[in-house]
Amino acid sequence: MPPTLTINSPIVNLPPELFAKFCSYLSPNDLFKLSKVCRKFYCYLSAPNSFSTQQIWKKSRLTFMGHVWSPPPKGMNEKRYVELLITNLGCEICNISKHCKIYWAFGVRCCSECFNEKTVADIMDYPQELIDIMPFYNKYGDKYYWKEQLDLELNQYTSISHGRLSNLKSWLDDKKNIFDSRMKYAQTKQTSRSRFWLYHNFLTPRRDLRFLFRPIYSAYDCPPFPQS
Ligand SMILES: [Zn+2]
Repeated sequence: MPPTLTINSPIVNLPPELFAKFCSYLSPNDLFKLSKVCRKFYCYLSAPNSFSTQQIWKKSRLTFMGHVWSPPPKGMNEKRYVELLITNLGCEICNISKHCKIYWAFGVRCCSECFNEKTVADIMDYPQELIDIMPFYNKYGDKYYWKEQLDLELNQYTSISHGRLSNLKSWLDDKKNIFDSRMKYAQTKQTSRSRFWLYHNFLTPRRDLRFLFRPIYSAYDCPPFPQS
């Protein structure tokens, strides 16, 4: 929620270029704190279509979260991407639990309790052609869907299905493209996590093998190999 406070201070009246320069020295955490100071800063730092705003977040990510060099998923802006990556902020649903995980298929960072509350595995009541394209999270072999997302898409599906059939097909194709890309991104992140885990648990003492795996790791979000 945007802050309502209006501050009468010289710093609030900085020209946008100077404000951007000032922000370029701040970490993602500090940028979030700054965005909560007053309405003006919030607007500066939360404009989804502003190139300079998105560049501020991107620069902060690359400077302070050096191991995360992969770009955000298609359709997600830099601010949202960085927000998701700050896992020490905890669950963004309940704002209580600090043990949370990023579910890239849904674009959400939440704790297991909120995951259980917000997702559904039994979705017999939804049209199959809609289910077939929806992003899901695979847990113990079952597909879990984000309920709010399902309902949102179902509303659109229902209203479009009352019109021309070709419109519905085109809408389903567009959605499928978006969701396929999101699932692919989630899969890449999962693979990256698995390789990170493998590297740190099995390959750490085997420097000869780590050397062989270097080109693979370098393609994902892993920290640089330690130098000796
Ligand atoms: Zn939670």
